[in-house]
Amino acid sequence: MPTPCDTLVTASHILTQNAAREIVTDGAVAISGGRIAAVGPRAELAAAYAPAETVSMGQALILPGLVNAHTHAAMTLFRGLADDLPIADWLHNHIWPVERLLTPEAVYLGSLVACAEMLASGTTCFADLYFFSDQTARAADAFGMRAVVGEGVLDFPTPSAKTPAEALDLSRALFDHLRGHPRLSAMVVAHSPYAASDATLAACADLARRENAVFTLHAAEGVTENADSLKKTGKRVIPHLHSLGILGENCLLAHCVHTDAADLDILAATGTRVAHCPRSNAKLASGTAPVPAMRQRGIPVGLGTDGAASNNTLNLFAEMNGASLTCKLATGDPTAFPARAALDAATLSGAVCLGIPDIGAIVPGGHADLAVLSLARPNMVPFFDAPSQVVYAASGAEVVLTMAAGRVVYRDGRFPDMDVAALFREARDMAVSLAAKRP
Ligand SMILES: [Zn+2]
Repeated sequence: MPTPCDTLVTASHILTQNAAREIVTDGAVAISGGRIAAVGPRAELAAAYAPAETVSMGQALILPGLVNAHTHAAMTLFRGLADDLPIADWLHNHIWPVERLLTPEAVYLGSLVACAEMLASGTTCFADLYFFSDQTARAADAFGMRAVVGEGVLDFPTPSAKTPAEALDLSRALFDHLRGHPRLSAMVVAHSPYAASDATLAACADLARRENAVFTLHAAEGVTENADSLKKTGKRVIPHLHSLGILGENCLLAHCVHTDAADLDILAATGTRVAHCPRSNAKLASGTAPVPAMRQRGIPVGLGTDGAASNNTLNLFAEMNGASLTCKLATGDPTAFPARAALDAATLSGAVCLGIPDIGAIVPGGHADLAVLSLARPNMVPFFDAPSQVVYAASGAEVVLTMAAGRVVYRDGRFPDMDVAALFREARDMAVSLAAKRP
């Protein structure tokens, strides 16, 4: 007797990202209760399972839903508002002044746009660092996405909190609010060691330990950060964070562009994770993170898009491509960050960075978070090597279906849970009104 299941998704190719990195041809994924029941040849699964629904994708590639390890979703409202500027000018004169005008409603709208953009380009889970983070969680929930969100703690006033103590209170409330949610969870966010004092960083690390949660911050992104840190603390950024007892397996550092061998040894020894944001780093001319040296040391490296003000997309296909190409260019070595490594970073390592073990691969028992790419597009013909096609040929526009926790959340330009035309109108109006109010 065939086993009942909710859904059987079939396609010509499945990129499993399992331990053996198997590619199944003429395959199927059986889904039950939001989890993957089985993956294998279509004929075998069709005989073994009696699905309530079959989704036949034809000439298509099923891959694990991508994991965005670092973003600021609501910053979609500032996409294209200020570009091609030095980072200090960009932050102080453009981004921070408009961010001060943010309201919970604005963050909700901006986050909804971000969720739509991510789902339409195959991302099913994201780590978000921002303000009014409960609104970003609300947006992810409205689309049925998976997300880890955190309220930014800084030493100066934010749109949502006047003091770091207030921001920490909001963080605690976020943990209480999301506890037990099937797809959403909270993390602790300090902006950076330059925007948060040692005491603030220690309080954040303490909260993360109590909640057994990820603690994430920006570190060693800009060219001057190590010199500034040496002046202030006598140590470079990474040794300084280490001396505060912050680094460890629950710590996720974004960027780590300006890290030397000794810094990387510390990250490896402490089990610290890195969210690599190559396109943001390139656009702001921050530099290229030493990703091959990180990988040699076994440091888990996920991929992040960063916010839409500094990228300007939330598309992980562009990020995988950028990660590989910038690395080759910076090292002069075409083998420095191959397609397989970029794909691992956007799937398996992203899952490690976020502390969610059962995403990032299509394996029995894992969450049924999937992206499906049409192979009936000119740039996907022929099809020799799946990782190469995904990283070097695909743009993300080939995504025809996205599934989160076993539910179809995007298909052929449509979102079952959302009238995006109305949303985009509201978001445009909100963005224009915020830009007009800028000092
Ligand atoms: Zn960032």
